[in-house]
Amino acid sequence: MGEQNVYPAVRPDLASSCAGPECTGMLLRCPTLNDTRCILFDTLFGTNSAPILLIDPESEGAVVDANKKALEFYGYSRDEFRQLHVYDINTLGRAVLAVMREISSWSGGHYPQRFRHRLADGTVRDVHVYAGPIDLVDRKLLLCVVQDITEVIEGEQFNRLLLESVNVGVCGIDNAGAFTFVNPEAVRAFGFLHESEVIKLDIRRFLGTADRPMDGEAHRVLEAAATGAAVQGLECTMRREDGTLFPVRLVASPIRVGDEVKGAVLSFTDLTRERQREDEVADLMNAIPGAVFRAVMKPRGEIEITYFNGAARSLLGLADGDDPTSPAVLSPLLTRPGWVGLVRSLRGAARRLGAWEREFPIGGMGEGKWLLGRASTRRQPNGDVVFNGVLLDITDRKLLEARLEDAALTDPLTGLANRRRFEIALKESERLHATTGSPYSLIVIDIDHFKQLNDRYGHGAGDDTLRCLADTLRLRSRQSDCVARWGGEEFVLLLPATTMGLASALASDIRSAVTEARLSADGLSVSIGVGEVVLGEDAGAFFRRVDAALYRAKANGRDRVELA
Ligand code: GH3
Ligand code: MG
Ligand code: MG
Repeated sequence: MGEQNVYPAVRPDLASSCAGPECTGMLLRCPTLNDTRCILFDTLFGTNSAPILLIDPESEGAVVDANKKALEFYGYSRDEFRQLHVYDINTLGRAVLAVMREISSWSGGHYPQRFRHRLADGTVRDVHVYAGPIDLVDRKLLLCVVQDITEVIEGEQFNRLLLESVNVGVCGIDNAGAFTFVNPEAVRAFGFLHESEVIKLDIRRFLGTADRPMDGEAHRVLEAAATGAAVQGLECTMRREDGTLFPVRLVASPIRVGDEVKGAVLSFTDLTRERQREDEVADLMNAIPGAVFRAVMKPRGEIEITYFNGAARSLLGLADGDDPTSPAVLSPLLTRPGWVGLVRSLRGAARRLGAWEREFPIGGMGEGKWLLGRASTRRQPNGDVVFNGVLLDITDRKLLEARLEDAALTDPLTGLANRRRFEIALKESERLHATTGSPYSLIVIDIDHFKQLNDRYGHGAGDDTLRCLADTLRLRSRQSDCVARWGGEEFVLLLPATTMGLASALASDIRSAVTEARLSADGLSVSIGVGEVVLGEDAGAFFRRVDAALYRAKANGRDRVELA
């Protein structure tokens, strides 16, 4: 502000009011005026980084002068600016003159006023104007320092809209617990219509239950406001004005100014609907006639069951107090190999991220059950794989299947194994022999002249005889042997891990037992072929070899045993 010509006389009427000999015609540098004031004002006016206007309230708010910053901000040249009045830039129009007159009468400090000012290009900015009277020459002017607060207002508006639009209750409390602000959601949650009804009330009014108004949780909230100890995700109960309670999840963040704690901002989410939904889901889960579970598999393969519905306990045969998610409770339900297989199948599904399905037995021998497990797999962002699934009791189905399978492999007349079961057992003996060299033997039996018996005493008597013979064979067999009706009146005994010595002795025993039992009125005899497998011989060839021995027994006069 060194040069003299920066601020030429602003208005002829003002300039002419100074008649001093050294007056340069520049109002603000007039040496005949109070010097100190001039220099001070000059400096302030010229170098201040805020726009400053000098207004004459007595000429309807004419702009007397504007500093450089103001020219930049409003976008007018000095000369253009000095043609304007305050109502040209203030959106209030001429109504601003009343405000201006009032401010001119103040004698104390400057009070910020919020206005909207129109710039040369037509845009409108929110401003704070710090206006105050200043005496110059014989006039009282108004010095107006302008602060552009458009962005601050935008920020404020954003914050206000944010607080209004969230469905989270937000409120501020001072360190005594009184509300300093509440957002509309908090007003609604507390059971009021307008924030003015809540402001100044005490938070204690809404914490805890009626009979326990200040439980430990409520204390923690107040502590946050008083001491600055933050509270994160606290689940507690709040109370509406009408006394009804609602569950919330609450966060309390202390407000600090310097070292001091000035209160806290509380935000809370009303959990009523969330809890209702949880209850509904739980009801639904408990209505399912099976165990609904959720399990988590960690990246290293450890499995943890995190949820079981109400039906799980009875399905798994657990006692009332047992926690079905506890490994200690679940562990005895399966054998060790059972667990190994189950876990392996779960890991496989987790690896594929495919569906898991497995049938497995649980419980001890006898009162055990069969379960069908089915679950979907889902990978979590942290790498865990979550299984959501059910366990269903399939014991009845398994029993039925077993019964059907048994029926399919049993001869209905004698109750012995049928030819299919015999062939399965023979294949197994063949496999064992091929892999371990384990010996096995066969006895093939055919009733002599059975046709005659049928012809003489009828088919029913024939059937009775077949059943009696079956009993005779069953009596002489071991658990590991397979006694089967091969077809018609032919029977076979498969004797695993048995050599010729025992097999032929058993065959002779059977032959004589049948003769002695007199299974028909005319007496009954059987012809028998018996043999032991030769190392490396396949089952088919072995069977034919023993069958050939049987035919030799027939050919050699029946009622005899021939060695293959
Ligand atoms: P062989 O001493 O040569 O064995 O004479 P066989 O009469 O015993 O032999 P054959 O093969 O000529 O006759 C077998 C008879 O067994 C014919 C059939 O009626 C009878 N048979 C086959 N299955 C049954 C059955 O389930 N019940 C009855 N009652 N008889 C049957
Ligand atoms: Mg026959
Ligand atoms: Mg016969």
